[in-house]
Amino acid sequence: MISAGFLQMIRDRIPESQAVINAPLRKAFMLVLFIDFDGSMADIGSRESSFHSTLLSGKMSLYCLHTAVTEQEKGFMIKTKYDIAVLGGGHNGLVAACYLALAGKSVLVLERNAAMGGATQSRQVFDGVDAKISVYSYLMSLFPRKIISDLHLDLSLRSRQTASWTPSIQDGKFRELLILNDDPIGNRRAFLELTGNQNDYRGYLKLQEMQQQLASVAWPGLTEPLVTRKEMQEQMGKDGTRAWEALIEEPLGNVLESLISDDLIRGLVFTDGRIGVSTYPHDPSLLQNRSFLYHVIGQGTGEWQVPVGGMGALVNELIRVAKSTGRVDFLTQAEVVRLGVGRTQCCVEFEMDGKPHAIDALIALCNASAQELARMTGDPWQPEESDIEGAAFKMNMLLERLPKLRSNCCEASEAFAGTVHIDEGYEGMLASYHESQSGKIPTKLPGEIYCHTLTDNSILSEDLNRRGFHTLTLFGLDLPYRLFENDNERLRNEVVEKYLMGINQYLEEPIEKCLARDVNGIPCIEAMSAVDLENKIHLPKGNIFHGGLTWPFVETRDEAGLWGGETNHPNVLLCGSAARRGGAVSGIPGHNAAMKAMELLQIQTV
Ligand SMILES: Cc1cc2nc3c(=O)[nH]c(=O)nc-3n(C[C@H](O)[C@H](O)[C@H](O)COP(=O)(O)OP(=O)(O)OC[C@H]3O[C@@H](n4cnc5c(N)ncnc54)[C@H](O)[C@@H]3O)c2cc1C
Repeated sequence: MISAGFLQMIRDRIPESQAVINAPLRKAFMLVLFIDFDGSMADIGSRESSFHSTLLSGKMSLYCLHTAVTEQEKGFMIKTKYDIAVLGGGHNGLVAACYLALAGKSVLVLERNAAMGGATQSRQVFDGVDAKISVYSYLMSLFPRKIISDLHLDLSLRSRQTASWTPSIQDGKFRELLILNDDPIGNRRAFLELTGNQNDYRGYLKLQEMQQQLASVAWPGLTEPLVTRKEMQEQMGKDGTRAWEALIEEPLGNVLESLISDDLIRGLVFTDGRIGVSTYPHDPSLLQNRSFLYHVIGQGTGEWQVPVGGMGALVNELIRVAKSTGRVDFLTQAEVVRLGVGRTQCCVEFEMDGKPHAIDALIALCNASAQELARMTGDPWQPEESDIEGAAFKMNMLLERLPKLRSNCCEASEAFAGTVHIDEGYEGMLASYHESQSGKIPTKLPGEIYCHTLTDNSILSEDLNRRGFHTLTLFGLDLPYRLFENDNERLRNEVVEKYLMGINQYLEEPIEKCLARDVNGIPCIEAMSAVDLENKIHLPKGNIFHGGLTWPFVETRDEAGLWGGETNHPNVLLCGSAARRGGAVSGIPGHNAAMKAMELLQIQTV
């Protein structure tokens, strides 16, 4: 045993080690070790006197004073020391793990949940029904091809035939707009039929041109060190001045209202500025512009594609690549509770199966939110409230057949192959925003619906495919965390009922008639509020991006050259959505944190 006096002496000598020293010494199984000058480990109990004199001599610079029991329950032994510890096994943490393992580093990934993947998981959601649903995220646009090729991921992304179908009922009059991918003539005609003139189509094309100008400079730079606002603006050149002002400097509402006059089309375009966040067209924080930017620049085109096999296919591939290196260990149901940060290494304390453990790592990459990292390190954390609260609502459904659509221009199989926007008119969404901010569930609930199986039916069993089953995913807006905080179950059910009514406005038959049932006879609907998202996958206040989205540039010269995951601690990096340029299924913060870690470890990139 180590004497209390000895521990006190360590506290006095190495203040930075307090986090570890103050942690209750574990009753069972805990070995207390230290790393000597040559990096070897020894039982401190037997080496106390030499350690003591080393400390007194002031020569000891290494930090971690204890490491964990190896983990035997899961049938393999984890090491006591790794080059890299990844805290959280979301897709970004896995991307970082792959890069670093391919570069020869040893990595431990610690995930709090039973499954890896965070918000990128596929699972059999309904009892006894062989359908592997993308439980949370479902479409990809921002995942760079560079990461796919660097990591040799066998990942297939498929384009959707339809971009969107937007129905609306205004003053009792039914209106609709179908936009197809790669059909400019058909799209022009559809706009003309809706509005009676060419103006809004021209405005829509003009906006797309601006988006592409911005994408041409913002997209390639996302996997490079950060540049300043001024530098990025200069890259846009003179021709890009209007696009820069409209999309970066001024509230998005200005350009939308100047180019487009129809409420349905304005709303349809503006939804990209509101996915998962509470904002409005003239929001001075420009959160709507930041959200819009990440929704329209992916791959330089802003196209959203379907991951074949569902979102879980990405996670499976990342795990396959990580495992193939032989350098990555995974622990699930391992919650990181504390991160002790020293000058040269970190001590990661975690709980698994109710028992405390710890390991050392040269660098810790945090895939969890910034809030969670602050909890681990004990650092202060004070974000803007508006920047942190999520407002998304998710419904997963399985249908025995697609419902008959109320439409004069398309069938359900065409409409649901793209994004179906319900109650997403421009003025309507302003009303729903204000209602939700005043603490009410909006009268009309905006949302978007999409059917994965119309583009990729590999997520259903042969039997379900043969019988004509389909999945439906609904992503709801303007349902902030605070609405559900005190009565989640009841309000979640209320919202589900409202959304079903919202969908039914645009169907010839109620959607309820088409819902499949699980083995217990229960209709196949899974619903999650922002509170559920926090409870299930630890998204802070249900924020699907871990917090407010950031600009893809920095404001000052001092920050230029950073990768975006840097924290106050040189050997602790954010590698997930909370990093600059994080948010969405992009792998970008994972890639960028890996690049920074390689710089710190001074090794070449893969
Ligand atoms: C309902 C929904 C729909 C979405 N739809 C899309 C979409 O279609 N397309 C898109 O691009 N994006 C979408 N998003 C956003 C996107 O999924 C996320 O922004 C992204 O997946 C986040 O990835 P990440 O790896 O950074 O973090 P996460 O996926 O949040 O992973 C972080 C991991 O850290 C773990 N963790 C947290 N704390 C600890 C701890 N103390 N110890 C150990 N582990 C911990 C968590 O359990 C989690 O597994 C959606 C999100 C949601 C919720």
